[in-house]
Amino acid sequence: MLSFPSDLISGYGRYLQKGFVRYKETHEHLAIYGQKPDVMVISCCDSRVTPEGIFHAGPGELFVLRNVANLVPPFEATDGQHGTSAAIEYAVTALKVKHIVVMGHAKCGGVQAFRENANAPTLKGDFIGRWIKLLEPAAISMACMPVDNLDDPQLAMEYAGVRQSLKNLRTFPFVDQQVEAGELQIHGAWFDIGSGELRVMDPDTEVFSTAVADMDAVDGD
Ligand SMILES: [Zn+2]
Repeated sequence: MLSFPSDLISGYGRYLQKGFVRYKETHEHLAIYGQKPDVMVISCCDSRVTPEGIFHAGPGELFVLRNVANLVPPFEATDGQHGTSAAIEYAVTALKVKHIVVMGHAKCGGVQAFRENANAPTLKGDFIGRWIKLLEPAAISMACMPVDNLDDPQLAMEYAGVRQSLKNLRTFPFVDQQVEAGELQIHGAWFDIGSGELRVMDPDTEVFSTAVADMDAVDGD
């Protein structure tokens, strides 16, 4: 017999009491006037990396896309259902977001699978295998970034994956046009699950370094 997970129902009850009440007016406003988020976050499906939690964002603030290994494929005008590309198109052309953040993370299973099976043939129906082959150009470019800690090949590959996704973002004509027009910025970031550390990529050097929040400006809420 099917049974809807009871943890979800009890969690929903807590959400109604706390989260929804807290944002009740925001919800009402969003329902009437629609969403207008300034930021799109592209993150991994990994349950330990939640953009709304990490950035302490409420409803309507982030347009979030999550997929295996936070990957952006290159622009491809072929038949097929391009879910990630559709979300990017909507964010940029309809919502007109001002920022896209590609956020990688530590212990990424998708990156690890690529590292362990990079040379393995992908089988028909092997969705993950075909998807993570998007990391192939990243693996090649990785050697060009000696500043990364290459003693930690998992971390280096996670960084390289973010950089590759940023490059692929620019292959979408509507992204490139908005970036060139100064209407859109694209950023790389990486989250460490165990410590909570967020690293942000310098757009010029492509080096990741720890983000420092101004705690005086944090209301502690
Ligand atoms: Zn991941």
